[in-house]
Amino acid sequence: MKILVIGAGISGCTCAWRLAQSGHDVTLVEKGRGVGGRMATRRMEGARIDHGAQFFTADDPRMKQLSQSWQDAGVIVPWYDKIPGREELSGRIRFRGVQGMTGPAKALSQSFQVETGFFVDLIQKYQGGWLVAEKGNGTRTFQCDHLIITIPSVQMLQLFERSHYTLDTETMDRLRSIRHTQCLAVLGILDRPSSLKAPGTVTHPVQEIDWLSDNHIKGISPIPSCTIHASNNYSQRHWETTDEERVPFLLSVAEENLKAKITSWSSHRWGYAKPVVTFGRTYWHSTQEKLSLAGDGFGGERIENAALSGWAAADAIMAV
Ligand SMILES: Cc1cc2nc3c(=O)[nH]c(=O)nc-3n(C[C@H](O)[C@H](O)[C@H](O)COP(=O)(O)OP(=O)(O)OC[C@H]3O[C@@H](n4cnc5c(N)ncnc54)[C@H](O)[C@@H]3O)c2cc1C
Repeated sequence: MKILVIGAGISGCTCAWRLAQSGHDVTLVEKGRGVGGRMATRRMEGARIDHGAQFFTADDPRMKQLSQSWQDAGVIVPWYDKIPGREELSGRIRFRGVQGMTGPAKALSQSFQVETGFFVDLIQKYQGGWLVAEKGNGTRTFQCDHLIITIPSVQMLQLFERSHYTLDTETMDRLRSIRHTQCLAVLGILDRPSSLKAPGTVTHPVQEIDWLSDNHIKGISPIPSCTIHASNNYSQRHWETTDEERVPFLLSVAEENLKAKITSWSSHRWGYAKPVVTFGRTYWHSTQEKLSLAGDGFGGERIENAALSGWAAADAIMAV
């Protein structure tokens, strides 16, 4: 079957990989420049910085299988299971990418065709399948027998609206009910090695910050560089304010905890960070519509659940 997947996050890549493994002709389209979605790694002044998800866990046998294959391929390594002084936190192994968190998605994407810089503007029923068109004056369109959409639910609903497409009332209500947290992230270059011990992380140093880490101690950056994730509350309060208003406080807390100066920085707003209300089922699938929906808004919080959502959607298609 000719299958098109929209969205190159871990759910889309896992889904596309599994379908390609079973012999389907799979193409994945992604609006960004590369694959990974919220598993994002950025280059900045010689540093390599994870600015979205920081690690993943693998409890389910399917995720263990995936993570073992990534370990065997040298794409990921175990990062830590305990933080010194925070023994109350779960002792599960957290994995990190060897070259940053985009690694797993990059590895999966070797098995199917990827079109990047492709913002899906419209989807349309066509000759018993689907036609998918890019935004702008781009000439790229794709035809497929089955379509899988793995973009965050708000963007999914916007795509439906642009395309004058809708599903049954219950499904649409469930889609509209999905909610994600917001996260203001700041990436910074440090003037010296930070004072953090391995694994190089501080969680909740103050209530306004969820996460602070040194990417050099983490093992992905040649030079000391930090990631700061503001809490959902702080991020929401400052979503529309300017960087001049919202960033200095975050920098000062980071500098105090890292015992280093941040010489330059850049900020990013994650509009859909982690799901707090989900669809209520791991994925949505309709043989009649020739459509499947997946992502963390279905599978639930964490990379593992997003990947398993894509995996389960692929299995539903293969079961036909
Ligand atoms: C700051 C932050 C920290 C996090 N920390 C962790 C962590 O440490 N551990 C953990 O397990 N989880 C963490 N998460 C959550 C985790 O990153 C997500 O649950 C998971 O990556 C979601 O994957 P996904 O495939 O569902 O969606 P995404 O990764 O969002 O993928 C969707 C893709 O669709 C693309 N797209 C959207 N619209 C279109 C369109 N119209 N056309 C084409 N492409 C489109 C997007 O560009 C994106 O690449 C974190 C998230 C954030 C933001």
